[in-house]
Amino acid sequence: MKRRNFLYAGLCAAAIAPYPIWRHYRGDRNTLVSINAVSNLGGEVSLDASILAELSKSIDGNLLFSDSEGYEQARQVRNRMVDKYPALVVQCTGSADVSKVINFVDHYQLLTAVKCGGHNIAGNGTCDGGILIDLSPIQGVQVNPKLRTAQVAGGSLLAALDEQSQAHGLVTTSGTVSHTGVGGLTLGGGFGRLARRFGLTSDNVLGVDIVTADGRLKRASAEENTDLYWAVRGGGGNFGVVTSFDFQLHALPQQVVGGEIYYPYDQAREVINFYADYCQDMPDEMYADLVIFAPPFGLPDALYINVCYSGPLDKAEKVLAPLRRVVKPIKDEIKLVDYVELQKSSDDTDPRGTGQHLKSGFTKGISPALVDALVDNLESDLFRGSMAFFQQAGGAVSRVETSATAFPHRYASHNLTIGAVWPHGVDPEPHSAWADAYWNKVKGFTDGFYTNDAYGIDAAVAESNYLTNHDRLVEVKTKYDPANLFRVNTNIRPASQKQPS
Ligand SMILES: Cc1cc2nc3c(=O)[nH]c(=O)nc-3n(C[C@H](O)[C@H](O)[C@H](O)COP(=O)(O)OP(=O)(O)OC[C@H]3O[C@@H](n4cnc5c(N)ncnc54)[C@H](O)[C@@H]3O)c2cc1C
Repeated sequence: MKRRNFLYAGLCAAAIAPYPIWRHYRGDRNTLVSINAVSNLGGEVSLDASILAELSKSIDGNLLFSDSEGYEQARQVRNRMVDKYPALVVQCTGSADVSKVINFVDHYQLLTAVKCGGHNIAGNGTCDGGILIDLSPIQGVQVNPKLRTAQVAGGSLLAALDEQSQAHGLVTTSGTVSHTGVGGLTLGGGFGRLARRFGLTSDNVLGVDIVTADGRLKRASAEENTDLYWAVRGGGGNFGVVTSFDFQLHALPQQVVGGEIYYPYDQAREVINFYADYCQDMPDEMYADLVIFAPPFGLPDALYINVCYSGPLDKAEKVLAPLRRVVKPIKDEIKLVDYVELQKSSDDTDPRGTGQHLKSGFTKGISPALVDALVDNLESDLFRGSMAFFQQAGGAVSRVETSATAFPHRYASHNLTIGAVWPHGVDPEPHSAWADAYWNKVKGFTDGFYTNDAYGIDAAVAESNYLTNHDRLVEVKTKYDPANLFRVNTNIRPASQKQPS
């Protein structure tokens, strides 16, 4: 008997019916209920109480229904504009649970979302009416200081990776907001303060344990399932549920030189044009991102550069000097700081916890015309904060061959994100419209976009954004997920679901 079917042998099959009447089996495993769920093709699938009871019994984790305690928190993602209600949340405790749940969703062809940190801007960590596989119970980081590696459970957050690695004087690249999920960030790429030095987070993946659409737990590494290993490093959650990542770590002292330096906003053009040149000739140990922000409530516009210099301390002064003399800074907060502390310094300003509308694209350098477009068109409003943010790439990221992993945008110097943020509860319409209009002024200066930031993008455009790696990704997708079970992501369709051209 095929493993994926074993769970359900002898059970009533779920029927596909438009208007079913159901009994329900609640999350406390005592009350009998049933539910309707949405299928992968948008139809309705009824899941009888006995089927849910069997699933519940077979796993260690919890089943959460719409009235279960914990459902609200589990269904939500960081982007407050996304308000979706899965029919069922399954909180998995490990690979065995994930395998059983994948067997279940595959058997009934249920719409399936997978959530790690829930930070994805498009809300790919949840879904309406389908099954949400919540990885939050699968957390933990084991560091092997001798081998300089870390094994990281698939539901972990970046803070744990940074903290546990740094306890041994080690690191790998991770993102700039510490409550982001390791899962989503790594599978889509992974930029951060150390990417110019050590490559993307995904470039540091030595191997993964992954449950694929057939419900089997596989190892993907340079030795095993090498096609899958290639694809998970940039191809997002398209190929299965990663329950464990192995990362290469690198030595880093506890302290780096980092923090923000603020400039008068009326000198924004001069400072951003300087930043464009400064970035071109920077050692890999230096990382700088730049933000322009027009806050709400009539507060003054802000312009700042956030740096992390992780090289030899006696060279820091020279590297940082141009930042201090381009124009007279208003405030200079760059200092010796614990790397882990610096990694948490943007946590409270992460716009994903508010109403927000963000757009992003990669740039190859920053031209004066782009600077003019950004500065001329940035507008605040009583309730809206408006911003543009350059995250620096280059260095070690650019030195990896485009075809070496699935992540194709090695050419980028920066990831430019623009957007509007507003307090939760304010009418989003005018602010989203403003962000779209602002984006239209700058989009022409960008070239491709970061898969992890894809938001409101047509599926075909998102797919073509995998560039020259697209065809190989389709092959791997077709092999490991022929029915496109894993589709709540920046989706790569298997061959069977492609329109004939
Ligand atoms: C303000 C802001 C700042 C950001 N900063 C950075 C940054 O510094 N660096 C950077 O690289 N990116 C950054 N991002 C983007 C970030 O990488 C994405 O939001 C990423 O998707 C978050 O991962 P998550 O696990 O928290 O998301 P989730 O919403 O949980 O998941 C995102 C996607 O990944 C899939 N997924 C997650 N975990 C797994 C797993 N274990 N197995 C299989 N599939 C999985 C999900 O199914 C979903 O499709 C930023 C975005 C914003 C808006």
